[in-house]
Amino acid sequence: NGFSKRETFILSVDVGTTSIRCHVYDKSAGIRGSSASLLQVSLLYPQPGWVEIEPEDLWKGFLTVVKGAVQDAGLQMCQMESLGISTQRATFMTWDRNTGKPFHNFITWQDLRAAELARSWNESCTMKTVHGVMKTLHFLTRQKRFLAASLVVFTAQHASLRLVWALKNIPQAVEDGSCYFGTIDTWLLYKLTKGLVHATDYSNASATAIFDSYQMCWSGFICSLLSIPLSILPRVQNTSHKFGTCDPSIFGVPIPIMSMADQQAAMFGECCFDIGDVKITMGTGTFMDLNTGNKPHTSVAGLYPLVGWKIGADVVYLAEGNAAGTGSAIKWAQDLELFSDVRETEAIASSVEDSDGVYFVPSFSGLQAPLNDPKACASFMGLKPSTTKRHLVRAILESIAFRNKQLFEVMLRETRIPITKIRADGGVCTNNFIMQLTADLLGRKIERPSHFDMSCLGAAFVAGLGTGYWRNQEELKKLLSTDQHFLPRRSKAGWDKGCPYRGVLQSWERALQRSMHWYS
Ligand code: ADP
Repeated sequence: NGFSKRETFILSVDVGTTSIRCHVYDKSAGIRGSSASLLQVSLLYPQPGWVEIEPEDLWKGFLTVVKGAVQDAGLQMCQMESLGISTQRATFMTWDRNTGKPFHNFITWQDLRAAELARSWNESCTMKTVHGVMKTLHFLTRQKRFLAASLVVFTAQHASLRLVWALKNIPQAVEDGSCYFGTIDTWLLYKLTKGLVHATDYSNASATAIFDSYQMCWSGFICSLLSIPLSILPRVQNTSHKFGTCDPSIFGVPIPIMSMADQQAAMFGECCFDIGDVKITMGTGTFMDLNTGNKPHTSVAGLYPLVGWKIGADVVYLAEGNAAGTGSAIKWAQDLELFSDVRETEAIASSVEDSDGVYFVPSFSGLQAPLNDPKACASFMGLKPSTTKRHLVRAILESIAFRNKQLFEVMLRETRIPITKIRADGGVCTNNFIMQLTADLLGRKIERPSHFDMSCLGAAFVAGLGTGYWRNQEELKKLLSTDQHFLPRRSKAGWDKGCPYRGVLQSWERALQRSMHWYS
């Protein structure tokens, strides 16, 4: 195959919401081979609002893509120096630690079964008392972690209450002491090491809402509040760590597992290493992250304080804003046959001057920060006899850029951290209409890399740094390529005093307000 047998490579897998992807990276971060498998087949919808993944399907899909990528590269497994894994947000399972048998399917981050539980907790006297006590403690001590605890609002998206739901349904497992909890990374690690290791990393742990990002350990407070036994939780390790070695019976050779990360890995893949760096991942949902340096940001507007990664003694925190209706809204419109291929949407949206006064509220799973309303409904407003499919498509794409602007403004307002650079990734960032409109609305340059699987690259970078495959972050920055950048346009016909979309944005915000608290 022309490659030296001694040349080694990094294997990296991203378990996303729509697919599992694996790439084989070489020293120049070039992709030597790839493989992907759609997860759509194994997504289950057993009840309205429930979204599950069959664990065995996921495991088989994982093995297939890893073997497929190495084969695609024309390489041998023994040339794979290490493995990195990044996974979708807060999707978890519980299983029997003795037999490895799952107690239920993976309950995904999109699953709304805990929405009612979240509502009753948020409105409970217990939470009101907790908030009051924490506010007093913050007043007395000025410690930000008490302020953070006084602002705790449960949502169905966090693993915490979905876990409460699961534990309620398998009480015997908890009584036996045989239960293990794990996000997808933890389950894959457990399978790859044939049950030897039960661990996760700080980035995954911090995304579950059972973790105290201030103290950097599982939150005893949340666990006792929700009656979650600490004994079921995995050990938390650095993002760059030798988590274990793949049992040789799996790939024929013992490949070390050198990184595990939640999708914050995309931030690492984008080389957003410095305070003030921002990345916008637009996939099924939007995840906008700001590097806040070595301190967690305490937000009142619903930005989530996450651990980006912990490498050695250095912890990097992120403030994250999220919008659930991005690729999912586009997919819905496709299922409705507004177009046949998502790639057509850019031309369709550009083929009309504007949305004809139609506004789309992307709220199939509620509205996240800064409105934080799980009861908001998705809607089109301003429909007229003159409205065509084109206007509807344009309104959907515009709404994705509008949410980007909303999240960005909250970040600026709340953190007051000067923004140094903005990079985009995820399937939806291939859409030039959304990219240009976002740049216009943010008034900032947005860079788009030539390779969009940033979570995969991030997990590879972390793994490679851990083994010395790459020396340091400066070397990684040199390897990263930018395909294109989008500059904000200064002015255009129809812009209000140089501000794009001022009136349109105001009307869209009214549409959001009208969609709020719809489901009571
Ligand atoms: P995830 O990691 O959440 O599975 P991806 O980053 O793979 O998601 O992005 C997939 C999403 O991107 C799909 O919802 C798809 O419809 C959307 N998408 C891909 N290309 C385009 C495009 N050119 N315009 C709009 N949406 C797109």
